[in-house]
Amino acid sequence: MSVTLATDADVRAAYSRDASGLERLPEAVARPTDAAEVAAIVAEAAGASRPVTAAGAQTSTTGASITDRGVLLSLRGLDRIVDLDVARRLVRAQAGVRLGDLKRACAAEGLLLPADPTSEEDCTVGGAIACNASGARSLRHGPIRPHVAALDVVLADGRAEQFRRMRIEKNTVGYAAVQDPVDWFVGSEGTLGVVTEATFALEPLPERVTGIALPFARETDALAFVVAARRHRTLDPRCLEYCDAQATAIVAHATHDTDWLAARALVYVEDAGDGDAPLDDWLALAESHAAIEPAIRVYETEAAFRDARKWRHAVPATMHERAAPFRASGGRRVSTDWAVPYPALGRVLGQARALADEAGIAPAVTFGHAGNGHPHQNWVGEHPEHVARIERVVEATLRLVIAEGGTVAAEHGVGKLKARWLPLQLGARQLGLLRAIKRELDPQGILAPGNLVA
Ligand SMILES: Cc1cc2nc3c(=O)[nH]c(=O)nc-3n(C[C@H](O)[C@H](O)[C@H](O)COP(=O)(O)OP(=O)(O)OC[C@H]3O[C@@H](n4cnc5c(N)ncnc54)[C@H](O)[C@@H]3O)c2cc1C
Repeated sequence: MSVTLATDADVRAAYSRDASGLERLPEAVARPTDAAEVAAIVAEAAGASRPVTAAGAQTSTTGASITDRGVLLSLRGLDRIVDLDVARRLVRAQAGVRLGDLKRACAAEGLLLPADPTSEEDCTVGGAIACNASGARSLRHGPIRPHVAALDVVLADGRAEQFRRMRIEKNTVGYAAVQDPVDWFVGSEGTLGVVTEATFALEPLPERVTGIALPFARETDALAFVVAARRHRTLDPRCLEYCDAQATAIVAHATHDTDWLAARALVYVEDAGDGDAPLDDWLALAESHAAIEPAIRVYETEAAFRDARKWRHAVPATMHERAAPFRASGGRRVSTDWAVPYPALGRVLGQARALADEAGIAPAVTFGHAGNGHPHQNWVGEHPEHVARIERVVEATLRLVIAEGGTVAAEHGVGKLKARWLPLQLGARQLGLLRAIKRELDPQGILAPGNLVA
């Protein structure tokens, strides 16, 4: 089977940008509609030693889904939910299905696909798997990795293969890195194979979800509340999200909630389960950490959750809008993705702000997954030199993060933008092993060159 590649300028340009702010014009674009076509495209590319970079919805913030080398392989045409087996709690979907659509189809049957990246209404199943996507509820459910039960993958030579997780609960055979091939592809950012179909293990939807927004006058109280919530003997939040003073100001503006104007920090808690919400325990914990009580809001209905989701998304959306006018002059949003053990978050944020201050950079707008010790610091870089100055502050922050036992990239992947920071975290042996796995699965180095393995 031979598949036509599009080489006209308009089509190539349409796939040349993702959410990183970078632009890379591919030499050609392939838009297959089934796995056999994907296999044919990769086989042809392998025969010609031509690079192939898979792309889903191109919401990558790291330049992982764009390329100026070889073929940009869009998986959006593989957009079918193949099977939803309610009795066995399994769902199979092609790589180009939008994650939000898949989650809704499962929810209609009372089932939960727990992965919840903020971008779920746009991003694809294949992209979310390739980035090991996570979100607010990863505090309870982890990232997407443990929910992937099987993958259909086109390997670097064009052969299609299916990998299934073993359903055993113990295993002593071999090194961890070789035990489960599904794990090779989850988080591999398109560098080891192209996912064409995935099967997810589902959970029952909780009977009840309660959201609580808690404004605080001081960041130290808010972050102490987060630590206390994680260590609480009976409370079991499924998410603990955080906004600093600047992010809280954006939220107060978006909600027109005047009670929030005095707040300097905001924590959003979600408690999900069966039976009554332990609301009294949450309010007692909030009171003992000096939350601004009249400004506390509780969310229980579908409409209220939609509102809460809207204002939480107002922060990244506003930062995206603020950066847009500077694109033409080489500026872009600079966003961090580091994480530290959660009790260290307050200390590291303080040190990170001091670094920005010393460099004469305006404070970042900071928000995100405090329960996992995982904030996003956002800046608007107005021009290339400004972006470079901010990135020097980011690099200095990442050194602190590593010293605290943290990671340089906890959620959005490494892609092209963060590949240079891998050696801060991985030693020579780990980097050697990373390259050895890449060589074993992609000996010609044709898959997603420049991502992850620089
Ligand atoms: C506003 C916004 C909010 C975001 N919030 C989150 C968040 O909360 N959590 C989070 O984890 N991420 C988040 N992201 C980052 C990004 O959306 C996710 O990582 C997402 O899962 C990427 O999916 P995609 O379909 O857009 O993939 P793309 O951006 O198209 O590709 C991402 C990577 O996956 C590879 N890839 C894509 N499809 C395949 C395939 N079928 N087989 C093999 N490799 C493939 C690409 O080569 C690339 O390396 C956010 C991004 C934006 C813009």
